[in-house]
Amino acid sequence: MAQQVDFDIVVIGGGIVGLASAYKIGRNHPGISIAILEKEEQLASHQTGRNSGVIHSGLYYTPGSNKAKTCTRGRRELVAFAKENNIPCDITGKIIVATRKKELPNLERVYQNGLENQVEGIERIGPDQIKEIEPFCEGIAGIKVPCTGIVDFTEVAKKLGELIESKGQGNKVLTSHKVSGFEKHDFYTKVLTNKAALSARYIINCAGLQCDRIANMDGVEAGMRIVPFRGDYYELTEEAGQKVKGLIYPVPNPAFPFLGVHFTRKIDGSVECGPNAVFSFKREGYRKTDFNLRDSWDALSYMGTWKLFLRHWKFGLGEYKRAFSKKLFLRQLQRLMPSLQADDIEPGSAGVRAQAVGRDGKPIDDFVVVRHSNSIHVLNAPSPAATASLAIGEHISQMAAEYFDLKS
Ligand SMILES: Cc1cc2nc3c(=O)[nH]c(=O)nc-3n(C[C@H](O)[C@H](O)[C@H](O)COP(=O)(O)OP(=O)(O)OC[C@H]3O[C@@H](n4cnc5c(N)ncnc54)[C@H](O)[C@@H]3O)c2cc1C
Repeated sequence: MAQQVDFDIVVIGGGIVGLASAYKIGRNHPGISIAILEKEEQLASHQTGRNSGVIHSGLYYTPGSNKAKTCTRGRRELVAFAKENNIPCDITGKIIVATRKKELPNLERVYQNGLENQVEGIERIGPDQIKEIEPFCEGIAGIKVPCTGIVDFTEVAKKLGELIESKGQGNKVLTSHKVSGFEKHDFYTKVLTNKAALSARYIINCAGLQCDRIANMDGVEAGMRIVPFRGDYYELTEEAGQKVKGLIYPVPNPAFPFLGVHFTRKIDGSVECGPNAVFSFKREGYRKTDFNLRDSWDALSYMGTWKLFLRHWKFGLGEYKRAFSKKLFLRQLQRLMPSLQADDIEPGSAGVRAQAVGRDGKPIDDFVVVRHSNSIHVLNAPSPAATASLAIGEHISQMAAEYFDLKS
């Protein structure tokens, strides 16, 4: 006979990946009970609520990778979800712009990826078309990506939370519940939190910046560690904001999993530029001087971090300088928009990326989801995981159907 438990599945993390996973499992298996445990008072308090709000097209990602497979599908599902649920969402389109000759091979690589990933409507464009689309942007060549859009991912997360509770009997979204450990039993796990101990037959870890720690608590030898990279944004003043119609991106450096500082018109009409990518001494630290001893120790006692630093010290140093100098940050923006002046930008928000790094010091590029006895762990879900969340959720739901006994 099955053990009496509080929930069939406990999902740890009320970011968009945990919520989309619970939503999909709930839809595919309406008879089971699911709890989302989120340590903060509000859902989407970390990466999900502090990102660029861009619905990515799917053209950057290596063909055949999990990112490529889930981004295009996830994007379409996300746009349909937003429409169905009256969440403002705008398919603005974007341009990727090369400003120097040496960027052209990478621009072409991105274009070819886009074709292989079947991203609809992409087009190579020249300097005149760049100006037609974004009159204040200067570039020597570019790609027009009509299917990129914008949305407020916090609104999407909140709606998912509502639907999880309203559509499933016994489902709960429990905020202010910080998971601190597990007590393993034969047929269930006791999940220890600051509020209560809850029993569950299965666990799904979607803890973002803390996912490696939750995995360790469950005895998973992940072979990676989360290394946090803060991204600072500036905001364009209302007047300067008129210079940006949609989204303007630079050509990404393929050595890094970051897309480079870009101009983003947000769903509320404001225009952000950023984010940079600097090592953060605190996983959930959003100010430049934030420090946490445990987080710093975990990152700096890990050989992978030092190997990463050694390999990319020049890039890292440049990013650090730009983080503390508005002048240098502006100079980077002026590559895409030469007429921009210091008075046009004001400090904005910041986010911290959970970037998994291997022991060899290489940032793990693709999404990583692993199964461990009666649990599933999402160990790497960087950008475009917000865009891809519903497709990642479907994948996790399929894994749960395969590995968990969801009938009894
Ligand atoms: C600066 C920046 C810009 C980005 N831009 C984009 C973009 O434009 N488009 C895009 O698609 N993606 C973007 N991304 C990536 C995207 O935001 C993330 O991939 C996505 O939000 C990951 O979602 P998540 O649910 O895994 O993580 P999170 O949103 O971080 O959620 C994890 C949750 O787990 C909770 N948690 C952690 N530990 C515990 C615990 N012990 N107990 C209970 N709860 C716990 C946390 O409080 C958190 O709410 C960006 C990311 C950043 C940082």
